[in-house]
Amino acid sequence: MDLRIENLFRPDILRIEGYRPEAFLKGIKLDANECPYTPSLMWGPKMVREWQLNRYPDPEAQALKKAVARFWNVRPENILQGNGSDELIYYLIAVTGGPVCYPVPTFSMYGIIARILGYRTIEIPLDERFDIPLELFRKAIREERPRIIFLSSPNNPTGNCFSEEKMLTIIKEANCIVVIDEAYQAYAENGDGFLRYIRDFPNLLVTRTFSKIGLAGIRLGFVFGHEDLLREINKARLPYNVNSLTQWIALQILRKKAFFKGIVKKIISERQRLMESLERIEGVTVYPSKANFILFKVRDAGSVHRGLLKRGFIIKNLNGLLPGCLRVTVGRPEENRAFLKALKEVL
Ligand code: PMP
Repeated sequence: MDLRIENLFRPDILRIEGYRPEAFLKGIKLDANECPYTPSLMWGPKMVREWQLNRYPDPEAQALKKAVARFWNVRPENILQGNGSDELIYYLIAVTGGPVCYPVPTFSMYGIIARILGYRTIEIPLDERFDIPLELFRKAIREERPRIIFLSSPNNPTGNCFSEEKMLTIIKEANCIVVIDEAYQAYAENGDGFLRYIRDFPNLLVTRTFSKIGLAGIRLGFVFGHEDLLREINKARLPYNVNSLTQWIALQILRKKAFFKGIVKKIISERQRLMESLERIEGVTVYPSKANFILFKVRDAGSVHRGLLKRGFIIKNLNGLLPGCLRVTVGRPEENRAFLKALKEVL
């Protein structure tokens, strides 16, 4: 198996040089065709001056990367920033090309982005425990030669983590990029997840996002991996993909590690409570979850979904993908209590 960079990316990507924005220098800026004025905002002049909304954001998000490095205990050179991890998935598929391989059911954007970019998809059904069917993956790797494999762990929408051993086997045996999508890792209770392996494997990338820990509105996600891999992916990244407000807000909030620990703890204990309550309802089968949502099965998912909607509760109907299944996000305690009451009525 030859995992040289030349074999992991599209050959034409390797040849192009990425856009090089001017270095982010302090001084009298007359280089970037910005306007020296900025609308005065209602928040007051000091904040406006700090944000400098008339200027482009730091294209390399250097201060932010340093803070993220501390937050997740990695090196800044092993981090690439995205406008949500969605955007990074787009870049990843763009630079590797297809076929794009992933288990099903999983996060739908892997397949959607692959198709938009014109690449073939290889969809491998999960086993009966929603884990990775290793032999099917081995066969696909051997016979169909995927260029990139996505494994979401914890997996959306099933909620479980895949077997760590199987994921490691795929990373070791695949001769392509393997992305472990850790969007829900905060809730997985698995320590550091796969971040601890990024310097061990030349084809491993890990993605994370702030969307599931209280900041979906600012759109901020990251991909972690060896700097040689990130250099190629960075060619596809639009230079100013993470805007100034997001960079600024994230910098303020990342200092508050205790805040994140607190909300994660709250959601995990609420998840436990919600799972136990769902299990006690007759006609409901609950699947174990390591994420901030719970997959459950009822006899008639369509009518339960409609009944809940009528009562003002929006949950995800997965009937087409997993017969009888619905997915509910763990909310605040009072929201969960109200949801349980409505579900019982509907059933
Ligand atoms: N990966 C998975 C598995 C997800 O479920 C989601 C969001 N639903 C994302 C990535 C995208 O997250 P974002 O773009 O908000 O960072």
